[in-house]
Amino acid sequence: MRKNIVAGNWKMNMTLPEGVALAKELNEKLKSAETNCDVIIAPPFTHLASIVAVVDTNRIKVAAQTCSNKVSGAFTGEVSPDMVKSTGATAVILGHSERRQFFGVTDEQVKEKVDLVIERGMTPIVCIGENLEQREKGIYFDVIGTQVKKALFHLNPDDFRKVILAYEPVWAIGTGKTATAEQAEEVHSFVRKLIASQYGNQVADDTTILYGGSCKPSNARELFSQPDVDGGLIGGASLKADDFMGIITAF
Ligand code: PEP
Repeated sequence: MRKNIVAGNWKMNMTLPEGVALAKELNEKLKSAETNCDVIIAPPFTHLASIVAVVDTNRIKVAAQTCSNKVSGAFTGEVSPDMVKSTGATAVILGHSERRQFFGVTDEQVKEKVDLVIERGMTPIVCIGENLEQREKGIYFDVIGTQVKKALFHLNPDDFRKVILAYEPVWAIGTGKTATAEQAEEVHSFVRKLIASQYGNQVADDTTILYGGSCKPSNARELFSQPDVDGGLIGGASLKADDFMGIITAF
């Protein structure tokens, strides 16, 4: 059975005291909430260990927003998968479109990171998605299919099962423009069929595929009601505990 998940990507927001305060607030709110999904938060690297220390990690999993494709050594400014793991974080977002767009991350590097993250026993949350030009040209299935194949299809079925996918149309990230529920479902169902063609129906059925891109309390319910949408990767709306709770309780 696949899991429903709501994950918050804080991006480069919040100082350490602000981040710890937000994590504590969320932790408190979740204590008394009835929820039907797992919750993940992805603060900046500098906050990971402090946040792991103040949340109930059975209830809130903590993730990094990226990690290096190198194990250790002379790579100034990089943070290795082992370093992430040593903070108590248990997942890593990989291939986010902002990493691809602003920092030149390639599918090949995403693949290397996926391997290291899985080897370290953490969960890769792998982002895929087309930009506006690719959507308008009608080549988004090709773009997304290539990203999935290049980053993930070398995995054996057991390792593939450890992956969470996040479909994030780049044109909907931080723009206030959300994909319609039908647009999201069209891509999610395409990705699930692609997974089935490589790993079979059971693995495809068990894979969690999140939607990301201007998801908020007002549209989460409709998006999450689609048969192949298993939750959300949330940017802006994960920075306020009430908004994030509004999305979590949309399940
Ligand atoms: C994201 O970048 O992962 C994201 C979905 O951002 P937003 O919700 O702000 O569009």
